[in-house]
Amino acid sequence: MSDETPICSAKGCRDAAVWVLAWNNPKIHTPERRKTWLACEEHREHLSQFLGVRGFLKDVVRFEQWEAPEGS
Ligand SMILES: [Zn+2]
Repeated sequence: MSDETPICSAKGCRDAAVWVLAWNNPKIHTPERRKTWLACEEHREHLSQFLGVRGFLKDVVRFEQWEAPEGS
């Protein structure tokens, strides 16, 4: 077990993250590049929507199933 607990990326939230939101802004990132946000159960939808309406959201994966792509 890691002592580094992942924390939700939502503003002001200190809950443990259980989701990884992978996103890409085509204006500033190459297509293969993935930025990630972490989300607790409560903020997954909020953060997904934020990215979704901008067309940035690529993937939502359970934290334990997330494997960061090479070079990210
Ligand atoms: Zn949260």
